[in-house]
Amino acid sequence: MTIQFPFDNSYATLPANFFARVAPTPVVAPKLIRLNRPLASQLGIDPDWLASPEGVEVLAGTRVPDGADPLAMAYAGHQFGNFTAQLGDGRAILLGEVVDRDGVRRDIQLKGSGPTPFSRRGDGRAALGPVIREYVVSEAMFALGIPTTRSLAAVITGERVQRETMLPGAVLTRIAASHIRVGTFQFFAARQDFTALKHLADHVINRHYPDAAQTEHPYRALLDGVIARQAQLVARWLLVGFIHGVMNTDNSSVSGETIDYGPCAFMDDYDPKTVFSSIDELGRYAYANQPRITLWNLTRFAETLLPLFADDEKAAIEIAQASLAEFSGLFDKAYQAGLRQKLGLFTSQPDDAALAQDLLAAMAANQADFTLTFRGLGAAALDPANDEAMRALFIDPAAYDAWAGPWRARLAMETETPAARFAAMQAVNPAFIPRNHRVEAAIQAAMAGDYAPFEELVTVLATPFEDQPERADYADPPLLHQRVLKTYCGT
Ligand code: AMP
Ligand code: MG
Repeated sequence: MTIQFPFDNSYATLPANFFARVAPTPVVAPKLIRLNRPLASQLGIDPDWLASPEGVEVLAGTRVPDGADPLAMAYAGHQFGNFTAQLGDGRAILLGEVVDRDGVRRDIQLKGSGPTPFSRRGDGRAALGPVIREYVVSEAMFALGIPTTRSLAAVITGERVQRETMLPGAVLTRIAASHIRVGTFQFFAARQDFTALKHLADHVINRHYPDAAQTEHPYRALLDGVIARQAQLVARWLLVGFIHGVMNTDNSSVSGETIDYGPCAFMDDYDPKTVFSSIDELGRYAYANQPRITLWNLTRFAETLLPLFADDEKAAIEIAQASLAEFSGLFDKAYQAGLRQKLGLFTSQPDDAALAQDLLAAMAANQADFTLTFRGLGAAALDPANDEAMRALFIDPAAYDAWAGPWRARLAMETETPAARFAAMQAVNPAFIPRNHRVEAAIQAAMAGDYAPFEELVTVLATPFEDQPERADYADPPLLHQRVLKTYCGT
């Protein structure tokens, strides 16, 4: 017998109150709609086998592979600021873990694979639309170089799920460094189960922050590590115009990966207030609020660790506060460094932040497309003859001219060749992002049984920094009638 998945499960060895053992529920007629072959190989799984009828049954949850130890993870969480002590995997099942080709341990999870003890009133299922959105956007984020969970496969189940209407059911196979969330820590903190909390913290240190174990204060180093990675992550989101949409603490990964793609979207025109999610009525998770919310979530995380910091609560709070105070500096550093790269700057000058801010302000005032503006700057840096295309992105072209003068003066302070600058800029300013109208079109086509637009979108987004002249239309912002202003969780 050949081993199909080289499982090496560690979460399943944790105490029984960390999860509920539960098998996925078989489906009527599983059909593969997309397999991520390079990712399968990276995980040490034969892609041809995964695409076989037996493999597809595994991806649909109909067959449990050898070595799997299927379970639903327990977690709690603040949703839009309100705490729920028990959430947990209500429609996801962890099959197990594999150690990939680079020696990195990865979770293999089915999302939409049937009810679990944490399903509450939900059906444990996923509709095709959200599965396609998560597949497209998570893989686009990966190609953009942003830490993220990945998508190994999407299958349709042959069953319908009841949402506002009846929709085709689907299962996504999600790969993550782990699915441990801020909410996982909150689950045990809320129960004052400090033994479990320590166990969880040790597991996370061992798995994600091994260096912390070598320090004098491992739990404080754990907090510092999570703060550093989350600060980096949210800076990277802002630098590509990504809006997560549901930054609840149960959707915040302690490994520092982007996780739980629900009503997420990329903005077209630059507007810091942009919100797409239909349920985010107050704009809590608006584009520009994301760093603040990340810190809010990290503060909730720090609270769960207090008992591990010191016996004296006051001393523990001081430790947490000192670590949390680092967040804004770390975020700023990552964000400003990213902006300098986007502007084509190799060095750092005191006025650079203001220069970047001036451009963003002009973009916001003139409905300039975020992605096209930065992508176009590379060519403009190379040759001012390309300014005409830049000017056209601004309602008032003079707003671009007013900014470009000081920008060129700043570029002239550096000695890099124009060609080197151009190459560096094209490597950080993508031509292609998962534009909301394209994602929506891929979803609509898939619901009608045509997966070609989904396939093509994934292909274009796999090399976002390369000009793809034959796919140039994928770089275009939506026409007025194509604009998609609302996105839905679809849960
Ligand atoms: P989300 O907003 O997608 O992060 O999900 C929040 C919580 O609701 C998690 O505990 C999910 O497992 C649960 N949930 C979402 N959709 C479903 C569903 N269709 N069936 C059962 N649980 C669900
Ligand atoms: Mg979630």
